[in-house]
Amino acid sequence: MSESEIRKNTPLDPDAMYRELEEKIRTSCHGMDLGRIGAAYQMAKMAHSGQLRKDGSPYVTHCVAAADITVDMGLDEDSIVSALLHDVIEDTNLTHADIARQFGEPVADIVEGVTKLTRVQYTSKEDEQMENLRKMLMAMAKDIRVILIKIADRLHNMRTMAYQTAEKQRTKSLETMEIYAPIAHRLGMQKAKWELEDLSLQYLDPTGYREITESLEKKMPELEAFMSSMMEKIQKRMDAEGIKATIFCRIKHVYSIYRKMYAQKLDINGIFDLCAFRVIVDTIPDCYNVLGVIHDMFKPVPGRFKDYISTPKPNMYQSVHTTVIGSEGIPFEVQIRTWDMHHTAEYGIAAHWKYKMHDGGNAVRSGDEDKFAWVRRLLESQQESDAQDFFHNLKIDMFADEVFVFSPKGDVINLPAGATPIDFAYSIHSDVGNHMVGAKVNGRIVTFDYVLQNGDIVEIRTSKSAPGPSRDWLSVAKSGSARTKIKQWYKKERREENVIRGREMLEDELKHNGLTLDDVLADEIVSPILKRLSFTCVEDLYAAIGYGGVTVARVANRLRDEARSAKPDKKTVIDKVSEAAERREQNARKEGKAVHGILVEGLNNCLVKFSRCCTPVPGDDIVGFITRGQGVSIHRKDCQNYQQRISQPENEGRWVRVSWAREITDSYVTTISISAKDRSGLVMDIATVLNALNAKVRNLSSRDIGAGMALTIVSLEVKNAGELKYIMNRMASIPGVSSVIRNGS
Ligand code: MN
Repeated sequence: MSESEIRKNTPLDPDAMYRELEEKIRTSCHGMDLGRIGAAYQMAKMAHSGQLRKDGSPYVTHCVAAADITVDMGLDEDSIVSALLHDVIEDTNLTHADIARQFGEPVADIVEGVTKLTRVQYTSKEDEQMENLRKMLMAMAKDIRVILIKIADRLHNMRTMAYQTAEKQRTKSLETMEIYAPIAHRLGMQKAKWELEDLSLQYLDPTGYREITESLEKKMPELEAFMSSMMEKIQKRMDAEGIKATIFCRIKHVYSIYRKMYAQKLDINGIFDLCAFRVIVDTIPDCYNVLGVIHDMFKPVPGRFKDYISTPKPNMYQSVHTTVIGSEGIPFEVQIRTWDMHHTAEYGIAAHWKYKMHDGGNAVRSGDEDKFAWVRRLLESQQESDAQDFFHNLKIDMFADEVFVFSPKGDVINLPAGATPIDFAYSIHSDVGNHMVGAKVNGRIVTFDYVLQNGDIVEIRTSKSAPGPSRDWLSVAKSGSARTKIKQWYKKERREENVIRGREMLEDELKHNGLTLDDVLADEIVSPILKRLSFTCVEDLYAAIGYGGVTVARVANRLRDEARSAKPDKKTVIDKVSEAAERREQNARKEGKAVHGILVEGLNNCLVKFSRCCTPVPGDDIVGFITRGQGVSIHRKDCQNYQQRISQPENEGRWVRVSWAREITDSYVTTISISAKDRSGLVMDIATVLNALNAKVRNLSSRDIGAGMALTIVSLEVKNAGELKYIMNRMASIPGVSSVIRNGS
């Protein structure tokens, strides 16, 4: 399966490739179930049958090749099985369930994870965007093996990129350079990173790539002579010192030379350290012994010594680096490390499985906990080491507190976990949020409280006539910035509504303190409070309470304290008033008179309450129902509840005749529902009319009920049915309103 074989362009034989892979697993991976891996191969072969790669080979050859790379990386059995199956969900009829049935949930989950990454749309963006995209991929992966298999998949696709169109070569290479090589680097997978970079460079700058490879080829005899003489020298000295060391030497990879030439504006002859030497030993003390010996043999270049053993790199890389000047006056770099460090440097995060395998056989499969301990260590060390680092804020459950989604244009938007389309809209722009009328995720309409998932493509529908954010959005939005923007909107756009709402809220709050608005609106009480809170008038105070700029409890407490201290006798006045009211009621009960304006036939001195379902007001035809222990509950005769229950046998004898007293001075709270075509300013119009009618509004809320309609519910106090009727008629005349009904009917 070498490159030259592929280039011959004769279709590859998948069975032969698989046999080779099987042999490799048999010799290098102990304790793996070859029957299970073979079954995965058969499933993939069957599923992809009839599909061809661009080189004319059966598609499954790609799956075998990707699996082969995961074996080289040293991954576990589930990874190899998953690599064989990595494209079946995307490209064939097989599903997660099919895979889970035969190979278990973990494998099915990994394959599905790879599929999700494959579906992510990529467009080249500025750096910050790339960073988010890389994070998104990591976050989507959940299981690190998903990323590792994706890297293996990409590596093979890059190796066989020669068969693709020029356009595809360019975009895939760019994506590899910007996404997958950096991810491989962050995971410490040097080998994969180098190969991905060199393959990409080949398509991104063919001329530059060829220049370097050609001149390297020309220099090769010279370089090889230099390398072998140095290696011999070092080896001899190590033996003399009694240090057990293995020495490697290599020409640096093309892209690192390319970058150096570009950065230092040099041609290749200006770059001295084209080769790197590695001395690998058994123990950490030996590393430092070797360093001493090297510095004794050659003159060190000042400022080039780096100790990544005592301070590992964010990706767990450990080695001692030094640059020295050889006998021919040529500088070269020496990296000194232990074998453990070497495995980590080559395979990064994947080295974990490799270790396991070296330690012997079956431990590979049982080591779940350990596996994550390793990942956690890697990630934790990265977190501490560099604030700018890719893995900053990364935890074991990878970016648990963030979610990454796409705009329709392909921008990656980073939001707090649990974020909704509302957060998304406001993160684009306040105007988008304020004019939002709907949201689509992955092409489907969703509700505003839909919780966004990594990789979702989110589209916001806006309309110039949107009614603006609903107050409910404040509890749906997850991000502080969205909430702030919603509050700002309310502050600016809805002053009148805020004033009404704030006034109500304050009234309610004061009631808990046994006060009314009138008690505190005296100038000497309210003025100091306004001054202290920097409001110029009471309306401003109401408005601030209404949009949430100041909490109502805080205002009420201050007003109460002010009222008590400013007018000590005020309290007694109020007490007197309420005591008087209480007495009146008690007397009325004793005398069989109206309580709350209601006369109950045949019953004196009974408790009366108004049903919530239909909230009757004077003038309505009413009826009483004797409740268990709570007196008589008053319903309208046209109330649905009454209509339903009147003939039920268990309620026989519990309905009583009641009537309104002749003289009524109280107000009664009732509720009406206004259906209207949703439009901007609707709620404001309703509020304005109510205000003009001097209606005592207790509560007003409006919500979207679909089909372009909004339902506004108003609780208000009225004296009688006539007043209510009048208000309802006026509501019905507001443009767009289609019906106004009382509750219970
Ligand atoms: Mn693939």
